[in-house]
Amino acid sequence: MSPVRLFLSCLLLKEAFALSGRFWHITDLHWDPTYKLTDDPGLVCASSGKRPAASAGIFGDYVCDSPWHLINSSVYAMKRILPDPDFIVWTGDDTPHVPNDHLGEEAVINIVGNLSHLINEVFPHTKVYSALGNHDYHPKSQHPGAPNSIYDQIAEIWNKWLDPMSKETFKKGGYYTEELLNRAGFRMLVLNTNLYYDQNKVTQNSDDPAGQFSWLDQILTEATNNKEKVYIIGHVPPGFFEKKRNKPWFTTRFNKQYLDLIEKHHSVVIGQFFGHHHTDSFRMFYNSEGSPISTIFLSPGVTPWETTLPGVVNGANNPGIRVFEYDTETLLVKDVLTYYLNLTYANADTARWEKEYRLTESFRVPDASPASMHLVLEQIATDPCYLQKYYDFNSVSYDLTDCDSDCRVDHVCAAREVDFDRYEHCLLKEGAVSIHGGMLLVLSVATSLVMAYW
Ligand SMILES: [Zn+2]
Ligand SMILES: [Zn+2]
Repeated sequence: MSPVRLFLSCLLLKEAFALSGRFWHITDLHWDPTYKLTDDPGLVCASSGKRPAASAGIFGDYVCDSPWHLINSSVYAMKRILPDPDFIVWTGDDTPHVPNDHLGEEAVINIVGNLSHLINEVFPHTKVYSALGNHDYHPKSQHPGAPNSIYDQIAEIWNKWLDPMSKETFKKGGYYTEELLNRAGFRMLVLNTNLYYDQNKVTQNSDDPAGQFSWLDQILTEATNNKEKVYIIGHVPPGFFEKKRNKPWFTTRFNKQYLDLIEKHHSVVIGQFFGHHHTDSFRMFYNSEGSPISTIFLSPGVTPWETTLPGVVNGANNPGIRVFEYDTETLLVKDVLTYYLNLTYANADTARWEKEYRLTESFRVPDASPASMHLVLEQIATDPCYLQKYYDFNSVSYDLTDCDSDCRVDHVCAAREVDFDRYEHCLLKEGAVSIHGGMLLVLSVATSLVMAYW
């Protein structure tokens, strides 16, 4: 190769690398400080709620929240796999699933403090964008839309990660925004969507708790005027839980308000990253013409805790952590790499954090843009092999049973429709049979008859 061509190809290679950045997303660490190995399986951890922790080992058990050993192992695995990420996204839920009277404000603050300290110790030079989970308050999920001592104390714990202005905003409502890595034209929005959670009794009568919606509208309007590119992170996502039919998290009103804002400002919202499910999934947003306009990436949790939500079968997961590869000039999400710990193997032998999958390889798409994620969804909806692959990843390779036709409908409709009415319509269209007994079956048959004669 001639020196000129060599120089040019080196330049191109350098440019390609320069445009590529990576960040970590971790969520739902749920540290249970009561976890201990004992002969009585019912007494291993408070978070099991007396369910027997039959396979308890030093890294945990599928009915328990994370022992410190697992928390520590996950953060050091991050350090080993990608020691110098551009930044870290951390979307909350630090405390264990135990009744409120087992915790109290001081315990919640101590747990948030311990986890923050560990992340800061292992990544002392990395910017962390941290959102509150519904478990990061006492009583849990009762986040107020007004200043309070918990927001104050957490703002102090996160002092190093917050700009002075962010700290002030956070103290008022548990949310904030900053330029992403202090780069003009790039923005991070950290939301407190716990205000919209239907379990939150203190915000139900407010039209706009903590003024977050009007603030979000204003920030995104300014972002549009300034031609910025924006990432949104938060804990509780809008839309439905894919493992339980008809199970949303937001109230109807708040879900609609959030959806309207994303539809209005989608051109600047390049990615959304949430937790709370503990599962690996995603949510699509479409415009009125049916074109994909935005995606929420739902990252799996570190805790393996099996949910106690009635009706969910096999609701545990292996601990997962995730790297996003993105274009540093456009913020387009280029790829998603999920790493995990096989908990059974870790307890029996040694902790081996390994790559579970790379999105573009496993689903054969060029990137993780909304258009590509729409393709992923259509593959899952129509090809049983892709559906099963997605389903295995959904529990971080814990539940490897078959995803049957009802399971397919639950996962496809949850991913496709964030809007409550459209989700209901999707269930009908996809031929769901077990919701509302026979009524929906009748409706479904009627709909297909109407369709057949249309
Ligand atoms: Zn959680
Ligand atoms: Zn949560």
